[in-house]
Amino acid sequence: MNFTIKNAVIAVTDGYRTIDVQVVNGIITAIDSNLDLIGTRINGENKLLLSGFFNAHTHSSEKWQRGVIPPLPLELWLAHLYEFAPLDTEQVYISALGTAVETLLSGGTSVVDHLVLIPGKELETIATAVRAYREIGIRAFVAPLIQDESLSAGIPSGESSQIHEPYFRSTAETLVIIEEAVRLFHRPDEGINILVAPTGIQLCSDALFTGCVELSNRYNLCRHSHLLETKAQEKLAQEKYGCTAVEHLQRIGYLSDRTSLAHCVWLTDSDINILAETQATVVHNPLSNLRLGSGIAPILKYRQAGVNVTFGCDGASSNDSQDLLEAIKIGSILHNVTELDYQYWITPREAVEMASLGGAKGLNMDDQLGSLTVGKQADLVLYDLTNLSLLPRTDPIGLLVLGRPTNAVDSAWVRGKQIIADGKVTTINVDELRQELFNRSEWGKTHRSKSVGEMEVHYRQVMGL
Ligand SMILES: [Zn+2]
Repeated sequence: MNFTIKNAVIAVTDGYRTIDVQVVNGIITAIDSNLDLIGTRINGENKLLLSGFFNAHTHSSEKWQRGVIPPLPLELWLAHLYEFAPLDTEQVYISALGTAVETLLSGGTSVVDHLVLIPGKELETIATAVRAYREIGIRAFVAPLIQDESLSAGIPSGESSQIHEPYFRSTAETLVIIEEAVRLFHRPDEGINILVAPTGIQLCSDALFTGCVELSNRYNLCRHSHLLETKAQEKLAQEKYGCTAVEHLQRIGYLSDRTSLAHCVWLTDSDINILAETQATVVHNPLSNLRLGSGIAPILKYRQAGVNVTFGCDGASSNDSQDLLEAIKIGSILHNVTELDYQYWITPREAVEMASLGGAKGLNMDDQLGSLTVGKQADLVLYDLTNLSLLPRTDPIGLLVLGRPTNAVDSAWVRGKQIIADGKVTTINVDELRQELFNRSEWGKTHRSKSVGEMEVHYRQVMGL
């Protein structure tokens, strides 16, 4: 797939320049003025060209519950989420496509799907999501969500002695499934990656984490997990390990330069130093953290300590959208209220770099992705600067991040293949997708969760409410 983008606007140190970009076999081969036309001519006039962003943490199948779950903290919200009828693979397929479309139309060319698995159909679930991502062409990092403890174990015991049901699948069986998924689906050269992804310390044993470390080392896989999303998890870590979750994860060898950790709201200063030392990446999910009342992650402290930070939308029932530009906006300006010294605030250009290069670093691909650099892969996005939401002509990146860009993505490529042209997805039929989402759902189908009621009494007690 060869093409030349002519006269696109790109950011340079002291402003913007109009420039041409050549792409040959999916790789950026030249960035300069007045380049010869190679392959298809793409008109970049009045369009901003950026490297594609990463939606670095989401759960695609939560799309089926978006807008439904009432305002609740994570632990009770999860109980609510789990009560919905188990999904079928057709729903997995549709929600993966939907998540990809929303990510692409808000500037993302990569998605990390911390994929909830249908019990008993684990490999089928993974196969289905992989099929959807291959069809639409987004770069996918499928991170099958695994745990080996039952849901009630995720709440601290406090004074009470809690007995938890054993999880329905053994740790060893779970690891076999992941290894099989790697064998069947891990194809980095084709834009499909499998990650090891225990859900988090709250529902996973050390055996599961260390089993994942082994798989990660054996197959060169990135590692993903939730980390200290809530105050309850901070308490739980102390009960479980007698130290912080970060100290424990470091001890068992889970942290590394290819480990990305979603949320990271409740870390101590010494935890932050551990992340910096181990070069792990923080995935900031500001909207989910607000929606579930989890807290404000200390993102400015991470940046000052040299920790790599990128952005995620998180699943669509805790956000409840997959608009990456929205996550980038809130995720950068939110911290202006936590730090008086404005010199530490995140600028729009820094936010864009966090969303692109930061995402690539977190997935150990910054030598191949994340910036407009000759030799890197062509995961590119063109934004239409004549779009009403990006006018008048001021600072394109300033307005892209701080404004409310609406239908501003004109074109997108992944590995040099065009997926969006003239603002429309070209690889799948989005009208059919809308119809499927419509047909397979109904308005106002809510119910009072039974398990929330059961868990709530204990939750309120341990949290001192
Ligand atoms: Zn999540």
